[in-house]
Amino acid sequence: MNLLVFLSDLCNMTCDYCFLSLNAKPAAVLSEDAGARAVDAHLDRFGSRARFTLLGGEPLLHPQLALSLARRARAAGAKVTLVTNGTKAGPRILGPVLALGVEVAVSLDGKAASHDKHRRTLAGAATHAAIMKVLSGADRAALRVNLVVSRETVGALLTNLEWLRNEGFRRLSFHPDVARPWSASGLSALGTAMSGFARYARALETAAPGALSYWHLDSYRAAATGVPEGDDELVLGADGRYYAGDAWLSRRYGAGLDGAVGDAASGPDWDRRRALLAEVDRGVAAALAGAPYYTWPRETYALAALNGRDPAAAARAFRAADAVLGDALSALAKETARA
Ligand code: SF4
Repeated sequence: MNLLVFLSDLCNMTCDYCFLSLNAKPAAVLSEDAGARAVDAHLDRFGSRARFTLLGGEPLLHPQLALSLARRARAAGAKVTLVTNGTKAGPRILGPVLALGVEVAVSLDGKAASHDKHRRTLAGAATHAAIMKVLSGADRAALRVNLVVSRETVGALLTNLEWLRNEGFRRLSFHPDVARPWSASGLSALGTAMSGFARYARALETAAPGALSYWHLDSYRAAATGVPEGDDELVLGADGRYYAGDAWLSRRYGAGLDGAVGDAASGPDWDRRRALLAEVDRGVAAALAGAPYYTWPRETYALAALNGRDPAAAARAFRAADAVLGDALSALAKETARA
């Protein structure tokens, strides 16, 4: 069980595929007390199965809070991941986080041409050059890089992966843009990119086994069945309340959020969470008519429902991209595992 801890709703970037409600006034910043209670409660309930992911907004806008919560969870031996946009990930801030054994994931879409298409500052300026400068002093091999693959950048997937490898990053993951539906031509381009990725991964694996880690591929490989089991997730919002999923953070805190399932003071209401997610799961099952999926139709469905779009259509559109990517990774994982 992964507790997603949102440290604040503040971000110094505005990515066009971000679905979170950010930079509202007044800002919501998680209190250290609420964060500590939630970490302790999660450890008490789940013991060695407890995992934590620290996010925002941008969590490194609050380095002391991030460090304090990470230290608490790591002291109990729990796995902690911090997801950052990299703008504040210089050695002074990131060093103490990495020293705790926290996995750090940086959102970076490859070369500037792809990254800057979607990831801009609040004033609309490019961010790639500044992030690469901040990361120039980092141990890049220790970081995980996550790329969002969009219909505008899918054709450059291999170029971007190879560029990141040449820049010293060794742990890479990617997933399709979930915020906007994929057209037929976009899906076809995604299929072509995945065939290219399969050839690329095979060649790399042959030349230097284990030299590069694709996080998603590793998780497919680890799965006995070809479909990796996702984490079960509980969300702690920066307002100190629990939510059934991060889709509920697409609306401003307090704005009729019926997805709140308790707060840090009284603990999660597990029955309410179960009921909310069961309702979403029923909707997903009806929308997909039982078709298999790999990653997040539940999140896509809830996000659309909360934001006045057709949730069944959103789940089907996302599943189309998810199936292309998941089928390719699953086949590649089976093949390389056999080899
Ligand atoms: S950096 Fe992350 S939190 Fe900030 S706008 Fe982009 S996707 Fe959203």
